[in-house]
Amino acid sequence: MRWLKWGKVDGHDYHPSYPLHLGANLYILASMSFLDRFFGPTYEKELKQIRPQVDAINQLEDDYSTLSDAELIERVNGYRKQVADGTSLDDVLTPMFALTREAAKRTTAMRHYDVQLIGGMILHRGKITEMRTGEGKTLVATLPASLNALIGRGVHVITVNDYLARRDAVWMGQIYNALGLSVGIVNHDASFLYDPEHQEKDAERDAEGSYKVVDEFLRPCTRQEAYAADITYGTNSEFGFDYLRDNIEYEPERLRQPHHAYAIVDEIDSILIDEARTPLIISAPAPDTANLYNTFAQIANTLKPDEHYIIDEKAKSASLTDAGIEVAEKALGIDNIYTDKGIKYVHHLETAVRAKAIFSKDKEYVVRDGEVVIVDEFTGRLQPGRRWSDGLHQAVEAKEGMPIQKESRTFASITYQNYFRMYEKLSGMTGTALTSQEEFFTVYDLEVIPVPTNQDVQRIDRNDLIYQNEAGKFTAIINKVKEVHEKGQPILIGTASIESNERLATALSNAGITHQMLNAKNHESEGEIIAAAGRKGAVTLATNMAGRGVDIKLGGPEADKAESKEIVDLGGLFVLGTERHEARRIDNQLRGRSGRQGDPGETQFFVSMDDSLMRVFGGDRVKNLMGTFKIPDDQPIEMGMISRTLESAQTKIEGFHFDSRKQVLAYDDVLNKQRQEMYTTRRGLLESNEKVINEFAEELFTLYPDSRQISQEKQQDLGKELYDDLFRRLSLQVLDMLWVEHLEVMTYTRSSVSLRAYGQRDPLTEYRKEGNRLLKLMQEAVFSRIASALPQLQPQAVAKEEAERKQEARAAQKSAGATAESKTSTKAARTPVTKDEVYGRNDLVTITNGTDTETIKYKKAEPLLQNGWSIAQK
Ligand code: ADP
Ligand code: MG
Repeated sequence: MRWLKWGKVDGHDYHPSYPLHLGANLYILASMSFLDRFFGPTYEKELKQIRPQVDAINQLEDDYSTLSDAELIERVNGYRKQVADGTSLDDVLTPMFALTREAAKRTTAMRHYDVQLIGGMILHRGKITEMRTGEGKTLVATLPASLNALIGRGVHVITVNDYLARRDAVWMGQIYNALGLSVGIVNHDASFLYDPEHQEKDAERDAEGSYKVVDEFLRPCTRQEAYAADITYGTNSEFGFDYLRDNIEYEPERLRQPHHAYAIVDEIDSILIDEARTPLIISAPAPDTANLYNTFAQIANTLKPDEHYIIDEKAKSASLTDAGIEVAEKALGIDNIYTDKGIKYVHHLETAVRAKAIFSKDKEYVVRDGEVVIVDEFTGRLQPGRRWSDGLHQAVEAKEGMPIQKESRTFASITYQNYFRMYEKLSGMTGTALTSQEEFFTVYDLEVIPVPTNQDVQRIDRNDLIYQNEAGKFTAIINKVKEVHEKGQPILIGTASIESNERLATALSNAGITHQMLNAKNHESEGEIIAAAGRKGAVTLATNMAGRGVDIKLGGPEADKAESKEIVDLGGLFVLGTERHEARRIDNQLRGRSGRQGDPGETQFFVSMDDSLMRVFGGDRVKNLMGTFKIPDDQPIEMGMISRTLESAQTKIEGFHFDSRKQVLAYDDVLNKQRQEMYTTRRGLLESNEKVINEFAEELFTLYPDSRQISQEKQQDLGKELYDDLFRRLSLQVLDMLWVEHLEVMTYTRSSVSLRAYGQRDPLTEYRKEGNRLLKLMQEAVFSRIASALPQLQPQAVAKEEAERKQEARAAQKSAGATAESKTSTKAARTPVTKDEVYGRNDLVTITNGTDTETIKYKKAEPLLQNGWSIAQK
């Protein structure tokens, strides 16, 4: 029986009748043999098709190794022609994969493993390939990317941050180049093409390409050039925003994205699930309402929990008691907030209370560069540029005593779900997809196929240690870190929030343990640090997004055989989780940092009954029980009941979040249909598509018969060419103006239908109905405006209006996703962090925040560096 083989999961809490330990699930899956998984019922079909193809590719290897470099490119060009003439990609997959592998062998020290070929084929089939951390997914992507590039309509490879887009493009660029394929990169405020002319730093790239961007290989270019490349690397938010930017564009030659043909999404769970709850929005400031937020923030400050308001932690909401409302009324000098001021004020008040009571600094958000930046609760990743909706963001700004950002008007918005569903073919890869396969399937129509590891998994996943309270847990963690560290075994400590990261850092410092701390604030330098996390004696403290995508080699990135062997003998990388996350997936991600490519490794989570996951889901009962039994604080307890509580809490929360994402999506679907209709017309007008313009004009003439006559007169006055141009531009302007208003109304409708839900009606149905009615009204209004403007049609007026719109659009396009993060990353791009810039704790450094400059010891500077200061000069 296979049960008995799982001896590596330490067994004492194990009994086959127990529900399986969650973290262990992944382990078990990963440790199933190749045959088990592929001959199992689920993936059998897939293997049957794939396996022979792997053999076929391997058979070409000897032959292809004799080709000259030029012949390699000739072959690719030959296939490109064949595909253009109608040959299907499937028919050229075998030779193309073999050529890509050959190119990799020649340019890098890597030769695609068989499992990587399998992963590549799954990607080509438009599915999710689940491959564990360290299996080399970056390299896997080169196979389907090169193949699909043959169609000539672009392949988009999506990464989780700007730095990884550059890293992967530079690192893999040499492979594509050897195949005669071009590579573009879209970063937040820069675009690049991979520069094949550059040669000098090739050795440096070979050695450090997995964690360091050798910028010399990047040549700045226009956005259009980056997209015109055969393969384009970039982040989800840049791809999404470029789509939106294109749809508020006024000059067709500035359009960026020509196609949405094929996308390969790296870390797909992070992008399509964790980030999918916040839509992408391009907006610009609207009239001022700052005072209101400040007033309500002050009022909220005087209110007391339980007496004036009640918190629902699960739903993240706060409701006011009668006493609370009374205090507010008094402060505002009014008798009855509902009748005197109306629902808007009540909304403001509640929002201010939520901001105060539920949203805490360094947990839900951080304050950086004078801005409130959202921290994704799932990934701990900063979300600069994103804002909470419905005035919550302003309420938090008011609470922090910061300048209130003006409320804004939405120019364009889309959810990630709907953006990525536009691709004709979508695929992705990650180490952790299986626990969310239902969501991938229902939302994106994506199947998850796990690929076996290249080497057998050696990692040991220990059972959770559970403590009565946080203090006990902290003590135990510090002791464990000490113990592991003293042996010299490298240890990676994962935290769920920046706040706990910083608290633990203090505790470690107090215990005299030198460590590196990563908060996912500067991806580039963190990449270098995480790459070194496998060195002997390294203690690295990181939130779960920090350093993601960068491999941890035992002994460090440049370790020789003996050095890595030493770490292997110490047991490999020890991963210590300080808290179970809301989603099992995220816990699995953390575990996955250890035990890559058959390395030994060990993982363990420390949990306390004070952890929010436990608190929210009925941990109190258990805690009391433990008190009754007088179990000491720092004694771990192993109780099936608690493990089960944890597991069911995680499953419940996962379901809860899935539902909330489904909700967001269901509503966006309504808008999505409208958006597509509107954007099709808009694009037709923008690109002077005759058919679209004629249909548009006919609709106008049908609704407003007089306008046909007027139009003819105008044509005579102005000449046909000028008239056509002016009519087109006028239509575009009116369409845009009313669309923005429509978006705003739709937002209100969205909140008002939720209120109407009290009337027992399904809010979504209401929203859809009301939305369709509103769209019709909007379309009618478009024609009405055009009809009334037509008699006054003249070049100056159109040009003036257009200039204003353009200016607005430019500002909005620029601000879209404009972030502190990208500021740091581009700065880093220009002055790459080099080895000798690693500071000792007592080194003097000069730091600046743009206005002030100070020279202090590095240990003192460290907290400031996390808060918007940067090193000025060494
Ligand atoms: P993943 O994204 O799957 O976690 P990476 O793409 O970051 O993994 O690669 C992990 C490490 O494995 C990198 O250092 C890379 O150089 C190495 N690697 C990947 N594929 C191969 C291969 N076929 N041969 C040798 N090394 C490889
Ligand atoms: Mg990766």
